[in-house]
Amino acid sequence: MSGLPAWSEPRTAIVTGSGSGIGLATGMRLAAEGAAVAVWDIDGDSAKAAAAQITEAGGTAVGLAVDVADRSRIDEALAEVRSLLGPATILVNNAGISPFKRFLDISAEDFARVMAVNLAGTFHCCQAVAPDMIAAGWGRIVNISSSSAQTGNTRQAHYAASKAGVIGLSRSLAQELGPKGITVNIVPPSFIDTPALRGSAEAGFLGSGVESHVQSTPVRRVGRPEDIASACVYLARDEAGFITGQVVGVNGGRVIV
Ligand code: NAP
Repeated sequence: MSGLPAWSEPRTAIVTGSGSGIGLATGMRLAAEGAAVAVWDIDGDSAKAAAAQITEAGGTAVGLAVDVADRSRIDEALAEVRSLLGPATILVNNAGISPFKRFLDISAEDFARVMAVNLAGTFHCCQAVAPDMIAAGWGRIVNISSSSAQTGNTRQAHYAASKAGVIGLSRSLAQELGPKGITVNIVPPSFIDTPALRGSAEAGFLGSGVESHVQSTPVRRVGRPEDIASACVYLARDEAGFITGQVVGVNGGRVIV
């Protein structure tokens, strides 16, 4: 980092799905840089536990139960954030579900739920939060996609499609919101050691397990949630204001495009 403060004025950040994994690490890092953090998670208990963890580490946080597929709950929670922490001008759309199913077995309901959480959830959070960013003349949105959107993945047609949608959505918002002082970037992780990745491995969806993929990873290790958090925090800083509409791969070299 440059030694510059992350932000020239106090900032409030919302991180969706930050009760665990990548979202939790991102919330912790944003708070360590001085942002007040709203932890949103579908599981209210894990949201509150994550907020307590941030507070114990010296940060400012609140934890709220929010299903990002539910627009009315997003609007309600946003009003709570405004009154508790002030208007949010940093948004990390991280909440996601990553099921595996053979293409021919994916039901209309499976497809709709993945789209509702991963793609529509990102759309709704961006649309709900953008007015406060426009009013502030400054905003940072980081949308978490997936390397599956870049490469495709067997048994993840619905997931990869939703995460590819996140890239198109983000690039469009980068163009439309750029003149308002708002940047919108995309981070597509690959193989990050989180509860979701371990769950997929235990269910047998990752071949011989997480560690077996290390040899096909140029940097020869599994990713950590903090690897993604660092990229998100950098993109949220004042000094990243000339970076927008970009796909910033954080994947140990597993995908080079
Ligand atoms: P994780 O450990 O499962 O964390 C995701 C969090 O989002 C969980 O706390 C989960 O709650 C929450 N969540 C699920 N549905 C939600 C909803 N509708 N509204 C609000 N919160 C919801 O997963 P992760 O590995 O950290 O993944 C974070 C993001 O990175 C996801 O978008 C994922 O697709 C993406 N990603 C991860 C990897 C990887 O290697 N780990 C690779 C590519 C992309 P519950 O646990 O209660 O369901």
